[in-house]
Amino acid sequence: MKYDVIIIGGGPSGLMAAIAAAEQKANVLLIDKGDKLGRKLAISGGGRCNVTNRLPVDEIIKHIPGNGRFLYSAFSVFNNEDIIRFFERLGVALKEEDHGRMFPVTDDAQSVVRALINELQRLGVHTRLNSPVADVEYENGKTVGVTLKTGEFFAADSVVVAVGGKSVPHTGSTGDGYAWAEKAGHTVTELFPTEVPITSNERFIQERTLQGLSLRNIALSVLNQKGKTVVTHRMDMIFTHFGISGPAALRCSQFVVKELKKSDAVTMSIDALPDDNAEALFQKISATIKNEPKKAIKNVLKGLLPERYLLFLLEKNGIDPQAPAGMLSHEKVRAFVSSCKNFTFHVHGTLPLEKAFVTGGGVSVKEIHPKEMASKLMEGLYFCGEILDIHGYTGGYNITAAFVTGRLAGTNAAKYALSHRA
Ligand SMILES: Cc1cc2nc3c(=O)[nH]c(=O)nc-3n(C[C@H](O)[C@H](O)[C@H](O)COP(=O)(O)OP(=O)(O)OC[C@H]3O[C@@H](n4cnc5c(N)ncnc54)[C@H](O)[C@@H]3O)c2cc1C
Repeated sequence: MKYDVIIIGGGPSGLMAAIAAAEQKANVLLIDKGDKLGRKLAISGGGRCNVTNRLPVDEIIKHIPGNGRFLYSAFSVFNNEDIIRFFERLGVALKEEDHGRMFPVTDDAQSVVRALINELQRLGVHTRLNSPVADVEYENGKTVGVTLKTGEFFAADSVVVAVGGKSVPHTGSTGDGYAWAEKAGHTVTELFPTEVPITSNERFIQERTLQGLSLRNIALSVLNQKGKTVVTHRMDMIFTHFGISGPAALRCSQFVVKELKKSDAVTMSIDALPDDNAEALFQKISATIKNEPKKAIKNVLKGLLPERYLLFLLEKNGIDPQAPAGMLSHEKVRAFVSSCKNFTFHVHGTLPLEKAFVTGGGVSVKEIHPKEMASKLMEGLYFCGEILDIHGYTGGYNITAAFVTGRLAGTNAAKYALSHRA
Protein backbone atom coordinates (compact mmCIF):
# COMPACT_ATOMS: atom_id res chain seq x y z
CA MET A 1 0.00 0.00 0.00
CA LYS A 2 1.41 3.41 -0.93
CA TYR A 3 0.63 6.52 1.12
CA ASP A 4 1.07 10.13 0.11
CA VAL A 5 2.64 11.02 3.44
CA ILE A 6 4.04 8.94 6.28
CA ILE A 7 4.58 10.67 9.60
CA ILE A 8 6.93 8.92 12.02
CA GLY A 9 6.22 9.86 15.63
CA GLY A 10 3.00 10.76 17.41
CA GLY A 11 4.21 13.54 19.69
CA PRO A 12 2.91 17.10 19.33
CA SER A 13 4.90 17.71 16.13
CA GLY A 14 3.84 14.45 14.48
CA LEU A 15 0.19 14.73 15.52
CA MET A 16 0.00 18.26 14.15
CA ALA A 17 1.84 17.21 10.97
CA ALA A 18 -0.60 14.34 10.41
CA ILE A 19 -3.61 16.61 10.88
CA ALA A 20 -2.16 19.29 8.58
CA ALA A 21 -1.31 16.73 5.88
CA ALA A 22 -4.79 15.19 6.06
CA GLU A 23 -6.38 18.65 5.82
CA GLN A 24 -4.66 18.89 2.42
CA LYS A 25 -6.59 15.72 1.48
CA ALA A 26 -3.46 13.57 1.43
CA ASN A 27 -3.61 9.89 2.29
CA VAL A 28 -1.67 9.86 5.57
CA LEU A 29 -0.16 7.14 7.75
CA LEU A 30 1.00 8.03 11.26
CA ILE A 31 3.35 5.48 12.81
CA ASP A 32 4.41 5.37 16.46
CA LYS A 33 6.49 2.80 18.30
CA GLY A 34 4.48 3.16 21.51
CA ASP A 35 1.06 1.87 22.48
CA LYS A 36 -0.26 5.43 22.90
CA LEU A 37 0.08 8.72 21.05
CA GLY A 38 1.28 11.93 22.72
CA ARG A 39 3.01 10.30 25.68
CA LYS A 40 5.43 13.14 26.36
CA LEU A 41 2.75 15.73 25.67
CA ALA A 42 0.62 14.05 28.32
CA ILE A 43 3.28 14.58 31.01
CA SER A 44 4.31 18.09 29.96
CA GLY A 45 3.46 21.06 32.12
CA GLY A 46 3.15 18.83 35.18
CA GLY A 47 0.51 16.63 33.51
CA ARG A 48 -1.62 19.62 32.59
CA CYS A 49 -0.03 20.13 29.14
CA ASN A 50 1.44 23.53 28.57
CA VAL A 51 -0.03 23.74 25.04
CA THR A 52 1.59 27.02 24.03
CA ASN A 53 2.47 30.48 25.30
CA ARG A 54 0.65 33.74 24.72
CA LEU A 55 3.63 36.13 24.77
CA PRO A 56 4.24 38.15 21.59
CA VAL A 57 6.15 36.27 18.88
CA ASP A 58 9.39 38.22 19.51
CA GLU A 59 9.28 37.17 23.16
CA ILE A 60 8.56 33.55 22.26
CA ILE A 61 11.60 33.55 19.98
CA LYS A 62 13.72 34.96 22.84
CA HIS A 63 12.55 32.07 25.01
CA ILE A 64 13.86 29.62 22.43
CA PRO A 65 17.60 30.28 22.84
CA GLY A 66 18.47 27.28 20.66
CA ASN A 67 17.91 28.62 17.11
CA GLY A 68 14.59 30.31 17.90
CA ARG A 69 15.29 32.85 15.16
CA PHE A 70 15.01 30.07 12.58
CA LEU A 71 11.32 29.98 13.47
CA TYR A 72 10.50 33.56 12.38
CA SER A 73 9.43 32.41 8.89
CA ALA A 74 7.44 29.51 10.29
CA PHE A 75 5.67 31.82 12.75
CA SER A 76 4.63 34.04 9.83
CA VAL A 77 2.65 31.04 8.54
CA PHE A 78 1.39 29.49 11.81
CA ASN A 79 2.06 30.90 15.26
CA ASN A 80 1.08 30.60 18.91
CA GLU A 81 -2.21 32.46 18.38
CA ASP A 82 -3.01 30.02 15.56
CA ILE A 83 -2.33 27.14 17.99
CA ILE A 84 -4.81 28.66 20.43
CA ARG A 85 -7.44 29.06 17.69
CA PHE A 86 -6.71 25.53 16.47
CA PHE A 87 -7.46 24.04 19.89
CA GLU A 88 -10.51 26.20 20.41
CA ARG A 89 -11.84 24.93 17.09
CA LEU A 90 -11.30 21.38 18.39
CA GLY A 91 -13.33 22.26 21.48
CA VAL A 92 -10.37 22.56 23.87
CA ALA A 93 -10.81 25.83 25.76
CA LEU A 94 -7.50 27.24 26.99
CA LYS A 95 -6.60 29.56 29.86
CA GLU A 96 -3.59 31.78 30.38
CA GLU A 97 -1.41 31.47 33.49
CA ASP A 98 1.78 33.20 34.65
CA HIS A 99 4.47 34.08 32.08
CA GLY A 100 1.89 33.67 29.28
CA ARG A 101 1.66 29.90 29.72
CA MET A 102 -1.48 28.40 28.16
CA PHE A 103 -3.19 25.32 29.58
CA PRO A 104 -6.47 23.54 28.87
CA VAL A 105 -9.16 24.76 31.28
CA THR A 106 -9.63 21.13 32.27
CA ASP A 107 -6.06 21.14 33.68
CA ASP A 108 -5.81 17.71 32.13
CA ALA A 109 -3.29 16.95 29.38
CA GLN A 110 -5.42 14.03 28.25
CA SER A 111 -8.09 16.43 26.99
CA VAL A 112 -5.49 17.89 24.60
CA VAL A 113 -4.22 14.50 23.46
CA ARG A 114 -7.79 13.20 23.01
CA ALA A 115 -8.78 16.22 20.90
CA LEU A 116 -5.80 15.67 18.60
CA ILE A 117 -6.58 11.97 18.24
CA ASN A 118 -10.26 12.68 17.53
CA GLU A 119 -9.22 15.12 14.83
CA LEU A 120 -6.88 12.53 13.29
CA GLN A 121 -9.76 10.09 13.17
CA ARG A 122 -12.20 12.65 11.76
CA LEU A 123 -9.74 13.39 8.96
CA GLY A 124 -9.22 9.69 8.21
CA VAL A 125 -5.52 9.47 9.15
CA HIS A 126 -4.37 5.84 9.33
CA THR A 127 -2.44 5.07 12.49
CA ARG A 128 -0.08 2.23 13.38
CA LEU A 129 0.87 1.92 17.05
CA ASN A 130 3.46 -0.47 18.53
CA SER A 131 5.35 -0.19 15.24
CA PRO A 132 8.93 1.04 15.67
CA VAL A 133 10.37 2.35 12.43
CA ALA A 134 13.82 0.95 11.68
CA ASP A 135 14.74 3.12 8.72
CA VAL A 136 13.67 5.74 6.20
CA GLU A 137 14.37 4.67 2.64
CA TYR A 138 15.77 6.88 -0.10
CA GLU A 139 16.34 6.16 -3.78
CA ASN A 140 17.99 8.44 -6.32
CA GLY A 141 17.84 11.50 -4.08
CA LYS A 142 14.19 10.93 -3.18
CA THR A 143 12.39 9.61 -0.14
CA VAL A 144 10.48 6.44 -0.98
CA GLY A 145 9.11 5.10 2.29
CA VAL A 146 9.89 3.56 5.65
CA THR A 147 10.80 0.12 6.92
CA LEU A 148 9.52 -1.07 10.29
CA LYS A 149 11.64 -3.10 12.72
CA THR A 150 9.52 -6.09 11.64
CA GLY A 151 10.85 -5.66 8.11
CA GLU A 152 7.52 -4.46 6.76
CA PHE A 153 7.92 -1.68 4.16
CA PHE A 154 5.48 1.19 3.55
CA ALA A 155 5.90 3.32 0.45
CA ALA A 156 5.20 7.06 0.45
CA ASP A 157 6.11 10.11 -1.61
CA SER A 158 7.03 12.07 1.47
CA VAL A 159 8.07 11.20 4.99
CA VAL A 160 7.91 13.49 8.02
CA VAL A 161 10.38 12.60 10.75
CA ALA A 162 8.83 13.69 14.05
CA VAL A 163 10.48 11.28 16.47
CA GLY A 164 11.61 13.85 19.04
CA GLY A 165 14.98 14.01 20.79
CA LYS A 166 16.67 11.67 23.22
CA SER A 167 15.30 12.83 26.56
CA VAL A 168 12.98 10.83 28.81
CA PRO A 169 13.24 7.71 26.61
CA HIS A 170 10.36 5.88 28.29
CA THR A 171 8.05 8.22 26.35
CA GLY A 172 9.43 6.77 23.11
CA SER A 173 11.98 9.48 22.25
CA THR A 174 15.17 7.46 21.95
CA GLY A 175 16.97 9.44 19.27
CA ASP A 176 16.17 7.02 16.42
CA GLY A 177 15.76 9.77 13.83
CA TYR A 178 19.30 11.16 13.85
CA ALA A 179 20.71 8.20 11.88
CA TRP A 180 17.97 8.57 9.24
CA ALA A 181 18.86 12.25 8.90
CA GLU A 182 22.56 11.47 8.58
CA LYS A 183 21.84 8.82 5.99
CA ALA A 184 20.18 11.56 3.92
CA GLY A 185 23.34 13.66 4.25
CA HIS A 186 22.20 15.89 7.13
CA THR A 187 24.44 17.24 9.84
CA VAL A 188 23.37 16.38 13.37
CA THR A 189 24.83 18.93 15.76
CA GLU A 190 26.12 17.73 19.12
CA LEU A 191 23.33 16.61 21.46
CA PHE A 192 23.29 17.93 25.00
CA PRO A 193 20.85 18.09 27.90
CA THR A 194 18.87 21.32 28.34
CA GLU A 195 16.22 22.21 30.89
CA VAL A 196 17.99 19.80 33.21
CA PRO A 197 18.78 19.85 36.95
CA ILE A 198 22.33 20.96 37.79
CA THR A 199 24.74 19.00 40.00
CA SER A 200 27.33 20.34 42.42
CA ASN A 201 30.11 18.86 44.56
CA GLU A 202 29.97 21.77 47.01
CA ARG A 203 30.04 20.60 50.61
CA PHE A 204 26.75 22.23 51.52
CA ILE A 205 25.11 20.33 48.66
CA GLN A 206 26.82 17.00 49.43
CA GLU A 207 25.89 17.38 53.10
CA ARG A 208 22.33 18.22 52.03
CA THR A 209 22.29 21.34 54.20
CA LEU A 210 19.66 23.07 52.09
CA GLN A 211 17.99 20.04 50.49
CA GLY A 212 14.34 20.71 49.76
CA LEU A 213 14.58 24.47 50.31
CA SER A 214 12.81 26.57 47.66
CA LEU A 215 13.81 30.15 46.98
CA ARG A 216 11.08 32.21 45.34
CA ASN A 217 11.64 34.83 42.66
CA ILE A 218 15.41 34.96 43.06
CA ALA A 219 17.91 35.94 40.36
CA LEU A 220 20.13 33.00 39.47
CA SER A 221 23.17 33.66 37.28
CA VAL A 222 25.78 31.64 35.43
CA LEU A 223 29.24 33.24 35.36
CA ASN A 224 31.98 32.60 32.83
CA GLN A 225 35.62 31.89 33.66
CA LYS A 226 36.35 35.62 33.81
CA GLY A 227 33.59 36.08 36.38
CA LYS A 228 31.26 37.84 33.91
CA THR A 229 27.57 37.03 33.97
CA VAL A 230 26.56 34.86 31.02
CA VAL A 231 22.87 34.73 31.84
CA THR A 232 20.52 35.56 34.71
CA HIS A 233 17.07 34.09 35.24
CA ARG A 234 14.62 35.48 37.72
CA MET A 235 12.30 32.72 38.82
CA ASP A 236 12.05 30.10 41.60
CA MET A 237 14.68 27.47 42.37
CA ILE A 238 15.09 24.55 44.74
CA PHE A 239 18.13 22.92 46.38
CA THR A 240 18.19 19.16 45.87
CA HIS A 241 20.35 16.34 47.23
CA PHE A 242 22.60 16.60 44.17
CA GLY A 243 22.51 20.32 43.32
CA ILE A 244 19.81 22.72 42.19
CA SER A 245 16.62 22.46 40.18
CA GLY A 246 13.39 24.42 39.65
CA PRO A 247 12.57 26.84 36.82
CA ALA A 248 15.51 29.23 37.26
CA ALA A 249 18.03 26.37 37.44
CA LEU A 250 16.51 24.58 34.44
CA ARG A 251 16.74 27.76 32.36
CA CYS A 252 20.36 28.29 33.39
CA SER A 253 21.30 24.68 32.70
CA GLN A 254 22.14 24.95 28.99
CA PHE A 255 24.54 27.82 29.77
CA VAL A 256 26.15 25.70 32.49
CA VAL A 257 26.57 22.88 29.97
CA LYS A 258 28.33 25.27 27.57
CA GLU A 259 30.61 26.73 30.25
CA LEU A 260 31.48 23.23 31.51
CA LYS A 261 33.06 22.56 28.11
CA LYS A 262 35.75 25.07 29.07
CA SER A 263 36.27 24.12 32.69
CA ASP A 264 35.52 21.43 35.30
CA ALA A 265 33.53 23.81 37.49
CA VAL A 266 31.25 26.74 36.77
CA THR A 267 30.39 29.52 39.17
CA MET A 268 26.75 30.38 39.78
CA SER A 269 25.37 33.18 41.87
CA ILE A 270 22.11 33.67 43.75
CA ASP A 271 20.70 37.11 44.37
CA ALA A 272 18.04 36.26 46.94
CA LEU A 273 16.75 39.85 47.11
CA PRO A 274 16.92 41.09 43.52
CA ASP A 275 14.59 44.05 44.17
CA ASP A 276 16.88 45.58 46.83
CA ASN A 277 20.08 47.33 46.04
CA ALA A 278 22.99 46.35 48.29
CA GLU A 279 23.51 49.78 49.86
CA ALA A 280 19.79 50.27 50.57
CA LEU A 281 19.68 46.80 52.10
CA PHE A 282 22.69 47.55 54.29
CA GLN A 283 21.06 50.79 55.48
CA LYS A 284 17.75 49.02 56.15
CA ILE A 285 19.38 46.22 58.17
CA SER A 286 21.60 48.67 60.07
CA ALA A 287 18.54 50.76 61.02
CA THR A 288 16.66 47.67 62.25
CA ILE A 289 19.68 46.60 64.30
CA LYS A 290 19.90 50.08 65.81
CA ASN A 291 16.25 49.87 66.91
CA GLU A 292 16.60 46.47 68.56
CA PRO A 293 20.28 45.99 69.46
CA LYS A 294 19.62 43.42 72.19
CA LYS A 295 17.52 41.09 70.10
CA ALA A 296 19.17 38.00 68.56
CA ILE A 297 20.34 38.80 65.01
CA LYS A 298 18.30 35.93 63.57
CA ASN A 299 15.13 37.45 65.04
CA VAL A 300 15.99 40.93 63.85
CA LEU A 301 16.41 39.58 60.32
CA LYS A 302 13.34 37.34 60.49
CA GLY A 303 11.26 37.48 57.31
CA LEU A 304 14.10 38.89 55.20
CA LEU A 305 14.84 35.44 53.75
CA PRO A 306 13.43 31.93 54.23
CA GLU A 307 14.69 30.89 57.70
CA ARG A 308 16.94 28.02 56.56
CA TYR A 309 18.63 30.22 53.99
CA LEU A 310 19.01 33.06 56.50
CA LEU A 311 20.71 30.74 59.03
CA PHE A 312 22.89 29.30 56.27
CA LEU A 313 24.11 32.73 55.14
CA LEU A 314 24.68 33.87 58.74
CA GLU A 315 26.78 30.79 59.37
CA LYS A 316 28.69 31.28 56.10
CA ASN A 317 29.68 34.71 57.38
CA GLY A 318 30.67 33.42 60.81
CA ILE A 319 27.75 35.17 62.51
CA ASP A 320 26.19 33.47 65.55
CA PRO A 321 22.43 33.67 64.89
CA GLN A 322 21.77 34.03 68.64
CA ALA A 323 24.23 36.90 69.10
CA PRO A 324 22.69 40.26 70.06
CA ALA A 325 22.27 42.25 66.85
CA GLY A 326 24.04 45.29 68.29
CA MET A 327 27.29 43.28 68.65
CA LEU A 328 27.61 42.92 64.88
CA SER A 329 30.31 44.98 63.19
CA HIS A 330 29.48 46.98 60.06
CA GLU A 331 31.87 44.74 58.13
CA LYS A 332 29.92 41.65 59.14
CA VAL A 333 26.63 43.28 58.14
CA ARG A 334 28.13 44.26 54.80
CA ALA A 335 29.46 40.71 54.27
CA PHE A 336 26.02 39.30 55.08
CA VAL A 337 24.34 41.73 52.64
CA SER A 338 26.84 40.74 50.00
CA SER A 339 25.88 37.05 50.49
CA CYS A 340 22.19 37.93 50.20
CA LYS A 341 22.87 39.70 46.91
CA ASN A 342 25.58 37.48 45.52
CA PHE A 343 26.00 34.05 47.07
CA THR A 344 28.36 32.22 44.74
CA PHE A 345 28.93 28.49 44.54
CA HIS A 346 30.35 26.01 42.05
CA VAL A 347 28.47 23.53 39.94
CA HIS A 348 30.10 20.59 38.23
CA GLY A 349 27.61 18.95 35.90
CA THR A 350 24.00 18.21 35.09
CA LEU A 351 21.84 15.13 35.16
CA PRO A 352 22.22 13.12 31.91
CA LEU A 353 20.42 13.78 28.62
CA GLU A 354 17.91 11.04 29.41
CA LYS A 355 16.78 12.98 32.50
CA ALA A 356 16.63 16.36 30.73
CA PHE A 357 13.28 17.87 29.83
CA VAL A 358 14.60 18.79 26.40
CA THR A 359 17.39 17.67 24.04
CA GLY A 360 19.68 20.42 22.76
CA GLY A 361 21.29 19.98 19.34
CA GLY A 362 19.87 17.87 16.54
CA VAL A 363 19.30 18.09 12.78
CA SER A 364 21.00 21.29 11.65
CA VAL A 365 18.46 23.96 10.74
CA LYS A 366 20.86 25.25 8.09
CA GLU A 367 19.85 22.28 5.97
CA ILE A 368 16.09 22.79 6.39
CA HIS A 369 13.83 25.14 4.38
CA PRO A 370 12.46 27.40 7.12
CA LYS A 371 9.01 27.92 5.59
CA GLU A 372 8.42 24.28 4.71
CA MET A 373 10.49 22.17 7.13
CA ALA A 374 11.67 20.30 4.01
CA SER A 375 15.13 18.84 3.79
CA LYS A 376 17.40 20.82 1.48
CA LEU A 377 19.27 17.58 0.76
CA MET A 378 16.66 14.90 0.13
CA GLU A 379 13.43 15.30 -1.79
CA GLY A 380 10.27 14.34 0.07
CA LEU A 381 11.93 14.39 3.49
CA TYR A 382 10.64 16.66 6.25
CA PHE A 383 11.63 17.22 9.88
CA CYS A 384 9.72 18.78 12.75
CA GLY A 385 9.78 19.04 16.54
CA GLU A 386 12.59 18.32 18.96
CA ILE A 387 14.67 16.29 16.48
CA LEU A 388 15.62 19.65 14.96
CA ASP A 389 18.46 21.68 16.47
CA ILE A 390 15.93 23.91 18.21
CA HIS A 391 15.40 24.06 21.95
CA GLY A 392 13.47 26.39 24.18
CA TYR A 393 12.82 26.92 27.84
CA THR A 394 10.00 24.98 29.42
CA GLY A 395 6.88 27.12 29.57
CA GLY A 396 5.27 25.93 26.36
CA TYR A 397 8.05 27.09 24.03
CA ASN A 398 9.19 23.63 22.90
CA ILE A 399 5.64 22.48 22.40
CA THR A 400 4.92 25.64 20.42
CA ALA A 401 7.98 24.95 18.26
CA ALA A 402 6.78 21.36 17.81
CA PHE A 403 3.25 22.36 16.76
CA VAL A 404 4.46 25.14 14.45
CA THR A 405 7.14 23.06 12.70
CA GLY A 406 4.74 20.10 12.62
CA ARG A 407 2.07 22.18 10.93
CA LEU A 408 4.49 23.34 8.23
CA ALA A 409 6.05 19.91 7.73
CA GLY A 410 2.65 18.19 7.38
CA THR A 411 1.18 20.78 5.03
CA ASN A 412 4.22 20.87 2.77
CA ALA A 413 4.84 17.13 2.80
CA ALA A 414 1.23 16.71 1.61
CA LYS A 415 1.56 19.38 -1.07
CA TYR A 416 4.77 17.78 -2.32
CA ALA A 417 3.23 14.30 -2.37
CA LEU A 418 0.02 15.42 -4.07
CA SER A 419 2.01 17.20 -6.77
CA HIS A 420 3.90 13.94 -7.39
CA ARG A 421 0.90 11.60 -7.38
CA ALA A 422 1.17 9.32 -10.39
C1 LIG B 1 8.35 15.87 31.88
C2 LIG B 1 8.40 16.84 30.73
C3 LIG B 1 7.77 18.06 30.82
C4 LIG B 1 7.84 18.98 29.78
N1 LIG B 1 7.24 20.18 29.92
C5 LIG B 1 7.31 21.07 28.91
C6 LIG B 1 6.71 22.34 29.04
O1 LIG B 1 6.10 22.65 30.05
N2 LIG B 1 6.81 23.19 27.99
C7 LIG B 1 7.48 22.87 26.83
O2 LIG B 1 7.53 23.67 25.91
N3 LIG B 1 8.05 21.67 26.70
C8 LIG B 1 7.99 20.77 27.68
N4 LIG B 1 8.58 19.56 27.54
C9 LIG B 1 9.22 19.24 26.24
C10 LIG B 1 8.17 18.82 25.18
O3 LIG B 1 7.28 17.89 25.74
C11 LIG B 1 8.88 18.24 23.96
O4 LIG B 1 9.75 19.22 23.43
C12 LIG B 1 7.89 17.82 22.88
O5 LIG B 1 7.07 16.77 23.32
C13 LIG B 1 8.63 17.38 21.62
O6 LIG B 1 7.67 16.98 20.69
P1 LIG B 1 8.05 16.05 19.48
O7 LIG B 1 6.76 15.82 18.74
O8 LIG B 1 9.18 16.60 18.72
O9 LIG B 1 8.58 14.68 20.11
P2 LIG B 1 8.01 13.71 21.24
O10 LIG B 1 6.94 14.33 22.04
O11 LIG B 1 9.23 13.22 21.93
O12 LIG B 1 7.35 12.53 20.40
C14 LIG B 1 8.12 11.67 19.60
C15 LIG B 1 7.28 10.45 19.25
O13 LIG B 1 7.99 9.68 18.29
C16 LIG B 1 7.84 8.31 18.60
N5 LIG B 1 9.00 7.58 18.07
C17 LIG B 1 10.30 7.74 18.40
N6 LIG B 1 11.07 6.89 17.70
C18 LIG B 1 10.24 6.18 16.92
C19 LIG B 1 10.43 5.13 15.96
N7 LIG B 1 11.65 4.62 15.69
N8 LIG B 1 9.36 4.64 15.33
C20 LIG B 1 8.12 5.09 15.59
N9 LIG B 1 7.87 6.08 16.48
C21 LIG B 1 8.91 6.62 17.12
C22 LIG B 1 7.77 8.26 20.11
O14 LIG B 1 7.14 7.09 20.57
C23 LIG B 1 7.00 9.54 20.44
O15 LIG B 1 5.61 9.28 20.51
C24 LIG B 1 8.54 18.63 28.57
C25 LIG B 1 9.16 17.39 28.47
C26 LIG B 1 9.11 16.49 29.53
C27 LIG B 1 9.80 15.17 29.40
